Amino acid sequence: MSATDDILGPVYSQVLRRNPGEDEFHQAVREVLDSLGRVVAKHPHYGSAGLIERLCEPERQIIFRVSWTDDQGYVQINRGFRVQFNSALGPYKGGLRFHPSVNLGIVKFLGFEQVFKNALTGMPIGGGKGGSDFDPKGKSDAEIMRFCQAFMTELSRHVGEYTDVPAGDIGVGLREIGYMFGQYKRMTNRYESGVLTGKGLSWGGSRVRKEATGYGAVYFLAEMLRMRKTDLSGKRAVVSGSGNVAIYTMEKLIELGATVVACSDSSGYVVDESGIDIALLKEIKEKRRGRIEKYAELNGNGAHYNASGSIWTVPCDLAIPAATQNELTGKDARSLVENGVVAVVEGANMPCTPEAVRMFEEAGILFGPGKASNAGGVATSALEMQQNASRDSWTFEQTEERLAEIMKDIHDHCAQTADEYGLPGNYVAGANIGGFVRVADAMSALGI
Ligand code: GLU
Repeated sequence: MSATDDILGPVYSQVLRRNPGEDEFHQAVREVLDSLGRVVAKHPHYGSAGLIERLCEPERQIIFRVSWTDDQGYVQINRGFRVQFNSALGPYKGGLRFHPSVNLGIVKFLGFEQVFKNALTGMPIGGGKGGSDFDPKGKSDAEIMRFCQAFMTELSRHVGEYTDVPAGDIGVGLREIGYMFGQYKRMTNRYESGVLTGKGLSWGGSRVRKEATGYGAVYFLAEMLRMRKTDLSGKRAVVSGSGNVAIYTMEKLIELGATVVACSDSSGYVVDESGIDIALLKEIKEKRRGRIEKYAELNGNGAHYNASGSIWTVPCDLAIPAATQNELTGKDARSLVENGVVAVVEGANMPCTPEAVRMFEEAGILFGPGKASNAGGVATSALEMQQNASRDSWTFEQTEERLAEIMKDIHDHCAQTADEYGLPGNYVAGANIGGFVRVADAMSALGI
């Protein structure tokens, strides 16, 4: 055991003891702690004052009942969560996820990741996350509205422009943010634009917010490739998922000269060797709220749909997992490496298992961890807060330019931090250490 294991081992044991059964949270904490040994070795004060222990324990965890009425008049009960993880850098900030898999452990893992991600953006935002085990699939618009209203009725007492600013995540988009913002406004009699981000353009939203996570991930990828003296043009890309993040990742990849040959949803994946037709995909997913299977049916270029198997068996230069956590396993990583993948960038939060990440590292594949590469979404949320506070509204060009600058800064900060700690090219260590140092410095300054 090294000197740093002496410090970090007990922290991890305590996390396991305090949070039984929360596997994803353990995984996220472990992955960060693995990078921090070097920081404590170089600057021992980071290992004192309970800094790391405090970072692993959320400041506040809220669990509440959400009762709502379905279209048949039956009362339905769901569970709501908000984990306010760390507010050293600013108000808690992070999305809300509505999905049947949501539980306290999932929300904690996402909140923990968010703390580091938000710190990396350099914007004044702390980290938090929330959501519900509510399943939006198959619900009518009226049911979604009643659920969102019931959810906000309880959440409203915990959020606010200076306290905690939620946004969307899986299952929560413009429509849901609208219903929640409407309910908050009704309950408080305040047009407090800064209480939520991801709003519509005519009611306080920011241009580029919808596109930001995907565009940002591609900017990050382009910077990584630049370090290896190459670029996106002519590269084959595979992007999993077909939500907001995936769609706008694909749009930017195509704009910058790559060909996207496959994408997926939770039921299967589609391969289109002639390149995914983004307009058709948007029509199916955004307008009709349909399944990806429809793409193969409607596309005239012989695209085919696979209801089983893994999208990661499709050969590509660039892989961007943008669906959900732990979707890309060690086995998937092996087939990507064998098929000659050049770079893997996480569009979702923690989509690659630890085994997959290890394989990419060992094979010398460029790997962009989500807390750095998908930070464009929350960074643009912070730009939305900035516009709300100054009652201003920026143009698309102005906003996208800021996003591009922020992503370049995040990339450079991770790369420089990795160099500084003797791990050149290791973006995982760069992101974990870079985020940690910013939060830990603020926590130290604010006292206990
Ligand atoms: N859910 C997004 C994320 O994982 C965005 C959060 C936000 O905009 O607050 O970063």
